[in-house]
Amino acid sequence: MNTLLWLRTDLRLHDNPALAAAAENGTVTALFLASPGQWRRHGDAPAKVDFWLRNLRELAGDLGALGIPLKLLTVAHWDDAPRAIAGFCQAHGIAQVHANTEWAINERRRDAAVADALQADGVDWTLHHGASLLRPGTVLTGKGECYRVYTPYARTCRERLRTAPLRPLPAPRAQAAPPWAADPLPDAFDGFPPPSDAVRTLWPAGEAAAAERLAAFADGVIDAYKDERDFPSLPGTSCLSPYLAAGVLSPGQALRAALAANQGELDSGKAGATTWINELLWREFYQHLLAAYPSLSMHRPMKPETAAVPWRDAPADLHAWQYGKTGIPIVDAAMRQLLALGWMHNRLRMVTAMFLSKNLLIDWRLGEAWFMAQLVDGDLAANNGGWQWSASTGADAVPYFRVFNPLSQSRRFDPRGAFLREWLPELAHLDDQAIHDPSPMERVAAGYPAPIVDLAQSRLRALEAFGNLPAV
Ligand code: FAD
Repeated sequence: MNTLLWLRTDLRLHDNPALAAAAENGTVTALFLASPGQWRRHGDAPAKVDFWLRNLRELAGDLGALGIPLKLLTVAHWDDAPRAIAGFCQAHGIAQVHANTEWAINERRRDAAVADALQADGVDWTLHHGASLLRPGTVLTGKGECYRVYTPYARTCRERLRTAPLRPLPAPRAQAAPPWAADPLPDAFDGFPPPSDAVRTLWPAGEAAAAERLAAFADGVIDAYKDERDFPSLPGTSCLSPYLAAGVLSPGQALRAALAANQGELDSGKAGATTWINELLWREFYQHLLAAYPSLSMHRPMKPETAAVPWRDAPADLHAWQYGKTGIPIVDAAMRQLLALGWMHNRLRMVTAMFLSKNLLIDWRLGEAWFMAQLVDGDLAANNGGWQWSASTGADAVPYFRVFNPLSQSRRFDPRGAFLREWLPELAHLDDQAIHDPSPMERVAAGYPAPIVDLAQSRLRALEAFGNLPAV
């Protein structure tokens, strides 16, 4: 029997439930459905699409070595997916299609339409679970409800993972190849120009590259993770987010590496490993929310009353934020890191997101979209979750009156200005104090802008805007 593996954000051989099932049931063909028009409408970053393509190329080689050809179909819109996939199955005598679930609402609608089309043709369609440690919708409160707060959610996850540890799935065995060849892959997808060499070097493609990065992190850096993860000038975090977002690395592989570094303990033992496991559970939590609340896919706030925040229409301020010209050094350095690398340190994602949504009082959705348009690790669940957390519109909301002061954050997490010097060369000559908030004369001399907003006054403006919201 011919089976089809429909690859999406699960670009790996190992620990891939859909691939394992397709291989168990027959002769596998793999398929990737490219939809550059959809990706553009979705606002995906060129760096991310290039990362997908580079990983597909690696994966095509790995699959080919097992006798599994990778076919490529291109559609203008996801509405065309059912016809394209059903047509492919008919043309190739495919009896079963296997894929791993994606939880955003558009993807779920697409899959439902594909399932209908396949069913009409008598082709079996099975969705598997491979994007998170625990299947969204299965981690519930004692009352059977969906958790809206991280801490009890994470506690329940740990209990589940302790009582039923996850088993890794091996790569499938080699098969006698079906009678059709793999498709060539393009150099780039339409409308997604290749990123800089720096971006490609920083994010090498393939499962082997991901495994090497994971092993290097789990072999040493993880021990200092709790102490160093908030300092953007230190290599204190794993930089695995693009691999997890594209599914080049499975969350189970990440968890097992952390457990191995921590004598099998989930929440005791070494502080570094347990803190890192908590971050994997944050990723898990946001997927669980995305699956439970379709409104998140439509960028609606979790706290309904915050839909009435009087966001400012301030395109010049938004532009200054996007391009690192706000006159607040830590914000500008972070935004320039994002533009240059397609990635930003987590501490700075929080600082820049709060600065936009609180100090500038600009709608968090504009920031969410800008991040998505730049990030190599852009992921709807994590990005939406991080933005709603920062803007105090989210489920597990920080109280709206918590507004990070970017200057205090800068002094605390970049005390010697090392990160600022790397991204703001015009300020590099200033001393460790001045660099966080240069004087007007130092700014003029360096050609660096004055702050576009007064931090104290804008904080009060945000508190008033949130404090006066009518109850819903
Ligand atoms: P590590 O610190 O090594 O963490 C390990 C892994 O855990 C990460 O690779 C990631 O998969 C996960 N993780 C860590 N922190 C978080 C978190 N707070 N929420 C969810 N998952 C987490 N992460 C994305 O993967 N894609 C996004 O689009 C994204 N957008 C964000 C937007 C905002 C406003 C904020 C505040 C955070 C966002 N994050 C996003 C979460 C986090 O910033 C990144 O996952 C992290 O910086 C990636 O670096 P790392 O791989 O070195 O992380």
